[in-house]
Amino acid sequence: MDKVETIRDIHELLLNKENIAFVPTMGNLHEGHLSLVDKAISISKTVVVSIFVNPAQFNSSKDLESYPRTPDRDIKLLEQYKNLILFMPNLKEIYPEHTNNLYDLPPISNDLCGKFRPGHFNGVITIIDKLFNLLMPKSVIFGKKDYQQLFLVRHFAKHNYPKIKIIGGETIRNKDGLAMSSRNNLFTKENLINAANLYKALQNIVNQAKSGHNKKSIIGDNIKHLESLGWDIEYIEIRKISDLSEPSYKDSQLVILGAGIFKGVRLIDSIEFCIGQPN
Ligand code: AMP
Repeated sequence: MDKVETIRDIHELLLNKENIAFVPTMGNLHEGHLSLVDKAISISKTVVVSIFVNPAQFNSSKDLESYPRTPDRDIKLLEQYKNLILFMPNLKEIYPEHTNNLYDLPPISNDLCGKFRPGHFNGVITIIDKLFNLLMPKSVIFGKKDYQQLFLVRHFAKHNYPKIKIIGGETIRNKDGLAMSSRNNLFTKENLINAANLYKALQNIVNQAKSGHNKKSIIGDNIKHLESLGWDIEYIEIRKISDLSEPSYKDSQLVILGAGIFKGVRLIDSIEFCIGQPN
């Protein structure tokens, strides 16, 4: 593994390299991240993983400060991969001046997570734009765990970097079903077990929706149940996979998305599913 910290060094390393596969992360790596690295390795000989905690996508300075950072452990984890380039820039390297780009994002960026984290997706696209421009990868792998982010990155890339292929990786979960997340490290052992209840509720709603129950009332019942367990649920919604808009009864390719705060930690999750016959 090669580790570089500056734009100059990464440019030098990538000179004459084509077919770059890229995995952007904020570090505190877990099996979810590593599954994306494996996917990148399976499609390219030149794989770049970035670790950069991007302040532009945090809504509160408290959340940014408490975000788990484990650079030494991350480097050790990635050392097992021979042909990997780790790009770990500092803040000044990425944001040499205080810029605040405003992107023209589709309206869905203000819905779901965007409704509760104003400016978050603008911050995500800011860093993605910088990194895409810097590395000019052929493929970039993102997790479906951040479902709305994946949708917005796809949309952004389609219009601004049409040659870059965006690939979605499946969500990796622990034995209880909880989606792996850097934020899971903020839980005590007991709370970590109960944090899987969001996924369990989403799964329960999907199962009942598939057997024809009224979606709105099952979602309402599950939100009430989670609230009784101490969750502050921001939203649980069923949307169309194609554009994340609200489905009609004719739509069959669906995704359930949920976000909530449990014991002070904000978690999101989603499950793709299919109802009835595809239209
Ligand atoms: P993050 O470091 O949280 O910004 O995540 C970096 C990338 O890893 C994003 O594309 C995430 O969607 C993806 N990711 C995070 N958690 C998981 C997971 N449990 N399974 C698969 N991908 C994940």
